[in-house]
Amino acid sequence: MSDCIFCKIVDGSIPSTKVYEDDKILAFKDLNPQAPVHTLIVPKQHICCADAITADNCEIVGYIFSKIPEIAKSLGLENGYRIVNNCGEDGCQSVKHLHFHLLGGKKLAENMA
Ligand code: C5P
Repeated sequence: MSDCIFCKIVDGSIPSTKVYEDDKILAFKDLNPQAPVHTLIVPKQHICCADAITADNCEIVGYIFSKIPEIAKSLGLENGYRIVNNCGEDGCQSVKHLHFHLLGGKKLAENMA
């Protein structure tokens, strides 16, 4: 999508600090980190949000989760981490391209709401 900031990060027209990349997904450092390690993992294909996941496009979600252990290990998150997805207005999703926050590097707060 031409006006999507994460599509532009995927195509390289907006720079990012890449953590992992293959033909299907990109992981890059969040510009405004909320933890010592804060990486975003996005599908290269544009899916606006978790609410738009269907039987036809859900394979990429499983693929992302299959790569998370490898990405987490490469970031030194041997002691655990948190995966967060914000969806829609009440979920405070600010970028309308499906993404998973990978947070860690310290003991995270228990309260997520
Ligand atoms: O889940 P949500 O949509 O709120 O998260 C978007 C995230 O994208 C934010 O954590 C923000 O810091 C990050 N971001 C970024 N680089 C950009 C634009 C947003 O890392 N160019």
